[in-house]
Amino acid sequence: MAKFILVTGGVNSSLGQDIASASIGRIREARGLKVSIMKFDPYINVDPGTMNPFQHGEVYVTEDGAETDLDLGHYERFTNARLTKYNNVTTGQVYNTVISRERRGDYLGKTIQVIPHITDEIKSRVHKVAEVSAADIVIVEIGGTVGDIEGLPFLEAARQFRLDKGYENVLYIHLTLVPYVRAADELKTKPSQHSVGTLREIGIQPDVLICRTEKPLSDEIKDKISLFCSIKKEAVIEAKDAQTIYAIPLEFKKQILDEIILSHFHLISKCSQLADWEINVVDKALNPKERVSIAVVGKYIALQDAYKSIYEALVHAGFANDTKVEIRKIDSEELQKHDAGKLLAGVSGILVPGGFGSRGIEGKMKAIEYARERQIPFLGLCLGMQCAVIEFCRHVCGLKDAHSTEFKPATKNPVISLLAEQKKVTQLGGTMRLGAYPCRLKKHTLARRLYGKVLIHERHRHRYEFNNSYKKRLEKKGMVFSGIYPTGNLAEIIELKKHPFFIAVQFHPEFKSKPDRPHPLFHGFIKAALEKSKCKVEYK
Ligand code: GLN
Repeated sequence: MAKFILVTGGVNSSLGQDIASASIGRIREARGLKVSIMKFDPYINVDPGTMNPFQHGEVYVTEDGAETDLDLGHYERFTNARLTKYNNVTTGQVYNTVISRERRGDYLGKTIQVIPHITDEIKSRVHKVAEVSAADIVIVEIGGTVGDIEGLPFLEAARQFRLDKGYENVLYIHLTLVPYVRAADELKTKPSQHSVGTLREIGIQPDVLICRTEKPLSDEIKDKISLFCSIKKEAVIEAKDAQTIYAIPLEFKKQILDEIILSHFHLISKCSQLADWEINVVDKALNPKERVSIAVVGKYIALQDAYKSIYEALVHAGFANDTKVEIRKIDSEELQKHDAGKLLAGVSGILVPGGFGSRGIEGKMKAIEYARERQIPFLGLCLGMQCAVIEFCRHVCGLKDAHSTEFKPATKNPVISLLAEQKKVTQLGGTMRLGAYPCRLKKHTLARRLYGKVLIHERHRHRYEFNNSYKKRLEKKGMVFSGIYPTGNLAEIIELKKHPFFIAVQFHPEFKSKPDRPHPLFHGFIKAALEKSKCKVEYK
């Protein structure tokens, strides 16, 4: 039977409950245990797919095509867990299921209530993950902050969970903040005391407290937290701000959090294996030999979380190239107003990410033109690929009005148009071309060289595609269609012949990059950028 770790957050948001949950997953896997991690999101949307990235950050896509919270990205990056649509549960999903059941008549004669109907449904979602993943340990991150009205049913379900499963099969971990008050030169434990107090009112006594702090927790502070919060002193874990998020599993291990968890569950496991992680990830993050500057040109630049997986994938590729990747975030709307060189001078690589809507796309195309003409390594993702096609059509093939029908439905040259399967779609939630699809790579292309194989699987999230009726014309001018979805004959990868590294893909490779296994496209992109920065590029 699986064991369950329920992770709650207190005091305020943004304490890194996601990284803490992912790191706990990592230290458990290091002991040879199979892990799955899931997230409860208390909002009423069924999934984050319909939210603006400014509201919610990136929408992460799983292999099976679920649009999920970006925290699932951290879970997959830190562990080997293969997450599915079951790993992200929202209030919207829970109520949707219960209300449909009620309409069908499944509860005839009964009054439907938060307890037990909603809480039962929440618990059944955890059981489902345990069953589908066959994990030894299921980690459940309960989003939001203790005390939020909307999180109450999830916390109530978490309380009942120990009652159902037995004390030794469920562990409660609570994340809090121990703020440093400069004027008093002191760390303060009161917010943690209050937060644990609120959790106790709900009926949950945490077993472990992870304390976010700027300064080390002294013995005295740990004693105080232990006493007031009723937590064993060794289970008061210090989580100081780290230089890299990837060092956090090592920090937890140092403070024997993995031993504490094992002993609570009465589990015996093999010795912890984190040496490779330390050498290939943490050491690389802390001791880069080179530096390279990469421009990311998008419209959600102001928000750190909107391109989370892309930034992480760039950083991972840096690890593999012993390089610190310095990301220059450029607002595509801003670029529209200026000469491209003004904002892009000095970068060794340009990345254009995915997106929706016409705002800023002319700026993206300006960046692509700059990369193409100046032989600067370029990586385009999803909308980034569509813009690369439009730019090439306009400036190389002479199709001045080339456009995507997403932005200009009446264009005379619809080089990007709606996928055939999308024409009958009427509802917007969860209806894009989503999740993993196969892609066949053409011989003697950059894509094939980078991946080193013929058939790949990558994750998608789009409605528009390259219009194949323009293919011949583009090929004549030097564009190579190096990756094709065999079933639908869709262009998945394009590249340019007369360029050291110009590649763009209709999918989202960033979702499959891990710190110790960088994605081949990102790996190759950073390598090419590094060569460009040293002017070692051979022009074909
Ligand atoms: N808006 C484009 C489409 O729907 C690109 C989507 C994306 O970049 N994820 O096809």
